[in-house]
Amino acid sequence: TAIPVKRALISVSEKAGLVDLARTLAERGVEILSTGGSARALREAGIAVRDVSDLTGHPEMMDGRVKTLHPKVHGGLLALRDEHAADIAAHDIAPIDLLVVNLYPFEATVASGADEATCIENIDIGGPAMIRAAAKNQRFCCVVTDPEDYDALLAEMAANDGATTLPFRQRQSAIAYGRTAAYDAAVATWMARFEEVPRRIAAAGRLAQPLRYGENPHQGAAFYTDGSDRPGVATAKQHQGKALSYNNLGDTDAAVELVAEFDRPAVAIIKHANPCGVAVGETLAAAYGRAFDCDRTSAFGGIVALNGTLDEQTARAIAEIFTEVVIAPDATDAAKAVFAAKKNLRLLTTGTLPDPKAPRRAMKQVAGGWLVQDHDTGVLRPSALRVVTKRAPTDDQMRDLLFAWRVAKHVKSNAIVYARDGATVGIGAGQMSRLDSSRIAARKAEDVAEAIGLPHSAARDSVVASDAFFPFADGLLAAAEAGARAVIQPGGSMRDADVIAAADEAGLAMVFTDMRHFRH
Ligand code: 5GP
Repeated sequence: TAIPVKRALISVSEKAGLVDLARTLAERGVEILSTGGSARALREAGIAVRDVSDLTGHPEMMDGRVKTLHPKVHGGLLALRDEHAADIAAHDIAPIDLLVVNLYPFEATVASGADEATCIENIDIGGPAMIRAAAKNQRFCCVVTDPEDYDALLAEMAANDGATTLPFRQRQSAIAYGRTAAYDAAVATWMARFEEVPRRIAAAGRLAQPLRYGENPHQGAAFYTDGSDRPGVATAKQHQGKALSYNNLGDTDAAVELVAEFDRPAVAIIKHANPCGVAVGETLAAAYGRAFDCDRTSAFGGIVALNGTLDEQTARAIAEIFTEVVIAPDATDAAKAVFAAKKNLRLLTTGTLPDPKAPRRAMKQVAGGWLVQDHDTGVLRPSALRVVTKRAPTDDQMRDLLFAWRVAKHVKSNAIVYARDGATVGIGAGQMSRLDSSRIAARKAEDVAEAIGLPHSAARDSVVASDAFFPFADGLLAAAEAGARAVIQPGGSMRDADVIAAADEAGLAMVFTDMRHFRH
């Protein structure tokens, strides 16, 4: 099953590593066929190549749209050397033993914000056709689609006297079909960008990183990227510390998406995908201190996200307790130096923050399928708020209400968030009843008071946000009892009138958003 590599076709957009690969192949006596730009690069490096147009007897045409779509090429890639021997002879087919192709950079072109015509011109046609042909003919042909695999190819050939073995070709075929599937998924996703309802979606990713295990040690796992190059956890640069785990990646994503909602310095500390403390402030250091105070116990081993450049002072404060991951758009050298002493802490920088309003699809797997929805890009316009109580919130309360509402969007339902002066003071997350979330958040606010030495609950004179309506007055009254003075919630319950009456009786100000932020 070892097939000696005598003839190779090389057609690559990404020219990195091309010359070194081709030189080694040429030294082994491999005949190299190549397309326009690739052939030029090889000739410039003094490597002998034959143009594909010479093989086909047909020039490249239509600005490269048709270069390799020819029976001489596809016959060479698809021929079974035994069963098709008569056809090979009759049509003068030169069998191709190795195909090296990487595709027009469609994903990167879209990510760069290029215009429609440019994106369309970057949809590779001949490349995927050749890749699929070679990968199908794995008994005889070896395919390489990623410069990262050049070394493995050369090692394989060195170990097998210039041949490739079937297991290697099988592995390469799987990588190749993964690549064309991901490529077409990216094209399909882009083509469907005007569709309001996500009806026809195709999803595929590129393996970014195998993970040691999944949510639990007995679960295998890997991290795939969708090729969108969106700023965030998938494209972040890791400066130090060991590789991120499955749970770290999920929590880090939740953290950075949350702080991206704010246009003032903001810090979020995440545990198990929920924030345990969030604050805005004049500086990141001030915001971190207040986010930490919201739940000093849970913050231990947490994931910290900042929406501005990590500075030395903030880094020192974070380094005081065990923190798993810190993610920020950037970090100063002095901040990096503070973390350098903390070997286990991972520092990630994202360059820019993700845009919370950028449309994208969110997927969740169920047995036998996927649920697909638009990502929650709902951002409240303050002018859309309706005051429903006799008393209207003060300006300070309104600021805190909007802050708490943004945080609640990122808390698992049922979500109840108490906030005061731009910081959370109690978060109730993930309970099956809204009343229980209210109670937990109120109890947390008492813990805060104890931790920072307040004589009364930290929820006193606070505001409270609820991600969905209060179905009964009880949750709202629990909040009033805990010390909340103003409430933000979607409204829309059958019993809104009772809830509003209860709010008036308790002297609360309440605003309705007419927008819900369930998150499961
Ligand atoms: P080169 O730089 O060598 O001129 O072009 C290399 C690129 O062309 C590769 O990305 C390859 O996938 C792509 N390619 C090869 N054949 C065809 C074809 O027939 N049509 C199109 N659209 N692209 C091709």
